Amino acid sequence: MFDTVNTVFNWFAERLLDLARWPINLVRDFPHRIMRVVMTLYLGLFGIIKFVSGANRASKSETNTLEDIGFWLHRLLNELFDLVGGPELFEFFLRMIARSTPLSGEEIGKVAEVFGPDGLRFGDVRITEGGLLENIIFRFNGNLAFATWHTVHLPLTGKHTRETWPLVMHELTHVYQYENVGSRYLGEAIYMLIKTKRDCYNYGRKEGLQEAINVGKLYRSYNREQQAMIVQDFVAYCEAGREAETAVYQPFLSQLRERQL
Ligand SMILES: [Zn+2]
Repeated sequence: MFDTVNTVFNWFAERLLDLARWPINLVRDFPHRIMRVVMTLYLGLFGIIKFVSGANRASKSETNTLEDIGFWLHRLLNELFDLVGGPELFEFFLRMIARSTPLSGEEIGKVAEVFGPDGLRFGDVRITEGGLLENIIFRFNGNLAFATWHTVHLPLTGKHTRETWPLVMHELTHVYQYENVGSRYLGEAIYMLIKTKRDCYNYGRKEGLQEAINVGKLYRSYNREQQAMIVQDFVAYCEAGREAETAVYQPFLSQLRERQL
C-alpha cells in the first residue's frame, strides 16, 4: 500500500517538475534562444543581399537555392518553436505516457567522460521505457530507440534497450545536439534519413575518420546521425576495453566537447 502511494506521489511530483520546466526554461533559455533567432534572421538577410546582387547566382543551381531557402525556413521555424518553450510542452505529454526516469549517478559519470562534466543538463534528461510508447511506436518501428529534445525513448526489448550503453550514448548525442543547436537537429536528422533512404549513419569508421583528419574535415560537417554514430562507436570501443584503438576519434570528440556542431 505504502509503495503504491509512494509511486503515485512520485509520478505527480515528476509531472509537476516537467510542467514547471516550461516557465523556468522560457526565462532561463531566453537569452541564447533569442540570439539564435537573431543570427538566423541575419543569415537570411545576408543571403537575400547576396542573391539580389547576383554574387552567388552563377555558382548555384535553382534546386540548390530552393534547398537553402528550405533549410533556412526550417531553422527559423524551429528556433521560434524553441523560443516559446515548445520542447518543454511536448515533453510534458510524451513523458506522461511512459515510465520516465532520470539518469543514474553511474550513467551521468559515463556521459560526462564523453561530453565533459558540464556537457549536458543532466537534471533535465529523462529516459522513458514502456507505457503507451511501446504500443504506439515501438510495435511499429521494430523497437528502434529515438530521442526527442531532453528525452531518450527506449523499447523494453530488442537491441535498443537501456543495457546497450553505446546505443544510449548515440541517443544522448541527439540530446547534446538539441542543447547546442536547438530543435532543428530533429528535422535535420529526419531529412537525412529520408534523403538517403536510411543510409546516413556510415562515416567510414576508423579509416573514414583518418581520411577526414587528412583533408581537414570537421565533426560539424558530418550529418546528425553520423555525429551520433561516431560517439556510439567510440563508446563501444571503450566498453570493450579497446581504448587504444580510439586515437583517431579524439580530435572529433574534442570538437564535440567544444560544442562545434
Ligand atoms: Zn540517431
